[in-house]
Amino acid sequence: MNNVINSPVIIALDNMTMEASIELADQLDPALCRLKVGKELFTRCGPDIVKALHQRQFEVFLDLKFHDIPNTTAQAVLAAAELGIWMINVHASAGLEAMALAKQRLLDNDLDTLLIAVTVLTSMDEQALTQTGINDGLDAQVSRLAQLTKQAGLDGVVCSAQEAKTLKALCGQDFKLVTPGIRLAEDNADDQKRICTPKQALNDGADYLVIGRSITQAVDPTAKLQTILNSI
Ligand code: C5P
Repeated sequence: MNNVINSPVIIALDNMTMEASIELADQLDPALCRLKVGKELFTRCGPDIVKALHQRQFEVFLDLKFHDIPNTTAQAVLAAAELGIWMINVHASAGLEAMALAKQRLLDNDLDTLLIAVTVLTSMDEQALTQTGINDGLDAQVSRLAQLTKQAGLDGVVCSAQEAKTLKALCGQDFKLVTPGIRLAEDNADDQKRICTPKQALNDGADYLVIGRSITQAVDPTAKLQTILNSI
């Protein structure tokens, strides 16, 4: 496995078959990016896709966002880590006990897989949050869940770049921030509501940038990745 990557870029393999994912991976340099496998790809291909990417020396962020009772969450995280996964995530709303147990299970098994949490899904607005019974606003809930994640001993959270400054101040420099919604100025925003350039996101405190369509749908994904790295 490649343990010396300096690049903050994690490429999201969304809406892709196993063959297309591997074809893309074969064009990319594992020293310049990591790859994110989400629910769709993992549900279709299972651990085989992870093995194929590992064989090509890529570090993998397995974005399965586990949310369950503590023991089930911890065992799912352990199973992912045993595949050699670099980073895995859970929902912070599963609670302090579930997050802490998942982290402890990794430590008990000498696994250094990074464990991060999702606070509030960026697809949720204030109204959607209120419908779930949270009435004191989006920012308060994001901050509350990020602090809970830190208290549970996790390595960081997924957040929008707009939240990065606040969360770094709240949770400390070592608390990893993984930010999607990244676009170069000339890119199509697609369905992302709040976008940010790679440079701005890093300046605001993001540690890792999750970038999907800007790279995967580019005519030349390798060249696009290089343009993004040059912009940082
Ligand atoms: O194609 P694009 O760059 O918009 O992809 C962003 C990736 O980050 C997708 O895999 C999306 O599911 C994920 N993501 C997100 N917003 C979040 C959490 C994850 O866009 N809050």
